[in-house]
Amino acid sequence: MRAVSFIVCSFAVLLSTKGYSQSKGCGTLQPPPSVMAFDTAKARGLADNYYLWNNGQEVKVRFLSGSPALQETVKTIAKEWEKYANLRFDFISYGDADIRINLDSKGGHNSMIGTLAGSIAPAERTMNFDTSDFKSYDAMRRTVLHEFGHAIGLLHEHYSPVAGIPWNKEIVYKELGESQGWDKQTVDVNLFQEYKISYTNGTLYDKTSIMHYPVLARWTTNGYAVAWNNNLSEGDKSLISALYPKSGARTNEVPRFRVTDFTKMEVINSAAKQGVSLYPSFNISSAGKEGKVYFTVFFYDKDGNPIMDNDQKYNISNVVATYKAFTILPDKKLIANKTAQDFELFIPYTEFPAGYTNAQAVFKAFLLDGEELKILYLSKPISFSLIK
Ligand SMILES: [Zn+2]
Repeated sequence: MRAVSFIVCSFAVLLSTKGYSQSKGCGTLQPPPSVMAFDTAKARGLADNYYLWNNGQEVKVRFLSGSPALQETVKTIAKEWEKYANLRFDFISYGDADIRINLDSKGGHNSMIGTLAGSIAPAERTMNFDTSDFKSYDAMRRTVLHEFGHAIGLLHEHYSPVAGIPWNKEIVYKELGESQGWDKQTVDVNLFQEYKISYTNGTLYDKTSIMHYPVLARWTTNGYAVAWNNNLSEGDKSLISALYPKSGARTNEVPRFRVTDFTKMEVINSAAKQGVSLYPSFNISSAGKEGKVYFTVFFYDKDGNPIMDNDQKYNISNVVATYKAFTILPDKKLIANKTAQDFELFIPYTEFPAGYTNAQAVFKAFLLDGEELKILYLSKPISFSLIK
């Protein structure tokens, strides 16, 4: 089994470079690259089918902040996606919402990808807009369309392996190092990442996509440049129409899962069993197709370093871990450890190398679908004492 990789674009600002009025990029949480499994020969762009909402779904959206006027403008712009996607944004004033928007004068722009929003605690934002960056209607418009594109499952277009952008990497490293304080790795993650070719499933690269970042001519070796795109491109429209068809069913479904309402994980030392019992509390719902889900707990030392072990028992990629795996049919809802301790993960004391008295446990749920590993939930570390 491979380790779970969770790539977080940590940047808050991008392109405060001369000639551009907008200074904030998008610090959206990016899932790992994966194979896309639908056929839209004419569509352009990248999407993650595993995090799509159901076709025809009503997605509830609520603002956590912002003036009524600003909220109304965001709402009107976001709803443009509804013209092409069989999906409806239901903006509500109170109650449980799938997408929760913070309008603030800081924090950059970002959004969770599609249904991954369900992995965020109910009181917290799943999307952020930095209003200090809304210096014009166009700047606001392209940002809202872009972030809502992420929220319904789209990924950055410039990560397309068929984009073939001839980056002049040294200049980009230098300029973003100076203007943003980014190190090389941060630039690599945010600009030079490439998805596997299979991920595009034969779709074309679209430099006019709302999901493409601007590219300055001096950042490429041949003067290739991409301007700010303020509108949905024809490629964006055809892609989202294929993902959420207004007539008929989605062409190629994949297993889709949402882990929500994670509230805690009880960690209990058991002298009788000579080990640690773990009771993560969460809900999981399934859609699309049958799929296999792994519920895991990885162990770290008190400083957050993985506890290594390679005896081939109770480890994942040589990190001490325990798991249970289940094949789950679509359209099910399962509840773990809400009303009783009904779902236990266990690890014997003998699996911990000598010398650990304090440790941390991290609950991770993921889907394994053929070659595809898709993260569904990642908890914060939970500290506990090993009382053998
Ligand atoms: Zn983005």
